[in-house]
Amino acid sequence: MLAVVPPPVTVRVPAKVNLHLSVDDLREDGYHELVTVFQALSLTDEVTVAVTDEPGIEVYGEGEGAVPTGPENLAWRAVEALSAHVGRTGEPKVRVVLRKGIPVAGGMAGGSADAAATLVGLASLWNLDVTRDELAGIAAELGSDVPFALYGGTALGTGRGEHLVPVLSRHTFHWVLAFDSEGLSTPKVFKELDRLREAGNPPRIGSHTPVVEALASGDPRQLALLLGNDLQAAAVSLRPELRRTLRAGVNAGALAGTVSGSGPTCAFLCEDAQSAVEVAAELSGAGVCRTVRVAHGPVPGARVVGGDDAP
Ligand code: ATP
Repeated sequence: MLAVVPPPVTVRVPAKVNLHLSVDDLREDGYHELVTVFQALSLTDEVTVAVTDEPGIEVYGEGEGAVPTGPENLAWRAVEALSAHVGRTGEPKVRVVLRKGIPVAGGMAGGSADAAATLVGLASLWNLDVTRDELAGIAAELGSDVPFALYGGTALGTGRGEHLVPVLSRHTFHWVLAFDSEGLSTPKVFKELDRLREAGNPPRIGSHTPVVEALASGDPRQLALLLGNDLQAAAVSLRPELRRTLRAGVNAGALAGTVSGSGPTCAFLCEDAQSAVEVAAELSGAGVCRTVRVAHGPVPGARVVGGDDAP
């Protein structure tokens, strides 16, 4: 009898921006304790998983040349982790195609997004009886930003960012994103922050509570005053041109700008959708970044495209 091969499954998954990212001092285990408020944005990757006799990864789109296609790709690590979790042995007979819209090494958790999308896609392809919370357990082992890409929305993250609590966000917020021509390595940005802190005492952002209140109020002007990121000083120290980009976005009419995560992508919060389009047009003419995108948030986490049967 011929085995029935299931059709490929495509999953859309959002990038994240950190509205608040406070970084504690280095722990003895080499990690930093974080408190962050994430928002999932309409800037997405699409990940297709299919049963195949030629397993592997293909990458197209934004930054395709900079993404590994071997076992170190986070999407492939997700394939292996889910296979192990459900007791599938041998090399997984899976092909993963990544169509990237999220900048690589841009501080928007693109690799983590691909891993989350792969978990959701495979759960559907293999018809697994797993909940999203069960997938989140596997996700947390793959990387601290992977669980958030599964759930999306707006959330408070603690620990290394992997312990999540949803945050009420009453409004759709409108963003302009400025992509840089080259990525920044997240570990290098954390090291630079440690160095800056040893050399002096760069100011630290305060508590996340006012940000959570501003999200509940839904007022972008209130939120704009509160955007903060302890990694920004380190990203700017490694990439001083970012100072010019941040200034240019505000001069173009954004309410405020921040480096997203470890950078170098800069995220500008705008008054409304119309203002975001105008800021994007002016910023792309200012010659301070490689590419400009408009996005809104919050949006849901990894979802099967055209399907509602995902975990
Ligand atoms: P974060 O904000 O979570 O620190 P990032 O958005 O700055 O991450 P990524 O785009 O996730 O960075 O990529 C970081 C590095 O991970 C890349 O330089 C690349 O070598 C590697 N990588 C592994 N898998 C992927 C993937 N699926 N997509 C992009 N990069 C990947």
